[in-house]
Amino acid sequence: MSEDCIFCKIIAKEIPAERLYSDERVIAFRDNAPAAPVHILIIPNKHIASMREANVEDEALLGHMQLVAQKLAIEEGIDKKGYRLVINVGDDGGQVVYHLHLHLMGGKPLRVQKY
Ligand code: 5GP
Ligand code: ZN
Repeated sequence: MSEDCIFCKIIAKEIPAERLYSDERVIAFRDNAPAAPVHILIIPNKHIASMREANVEDEALLGHMQLVAQKLAIEEGIDKKGYRLVINVGDDGGQVVYHLHLHLMGGKPLRVQKY
């Protein structure tokens, strides 16, 4: 738990969120400003600020986050048509919340981003 971290507060249920999944390692909830019809965030219960701070001890956790996303994509009915998994890292990566999170987005054809 990191003070002043909005996602730690969601984990602690101090801030409400529409939770779709939780286990001893991760929780998943709907993004409150969805960029696609399905937009879910999968986050570790452990506060890791970003991918920059992840290390080899987190290897299984990072894989678990992706498999939870895969399961949620099936539950949301978007797995057949496809979806996007994204981790924004740091300011240039567009990261706004500094608690590692995996975006699961789908439900419509997503444009290929031109940067
Ligand atoms: P980032 O840009 O850091 O990769 O993405 C942060 C995401 O968290 C954004 O898509 C934003 O809409 C979402 N978000 C920020 N604050 C909250 C919140 O309090 N509740 C929920 N459900 N999503 C949030
Ligand atoms: Zn946190």
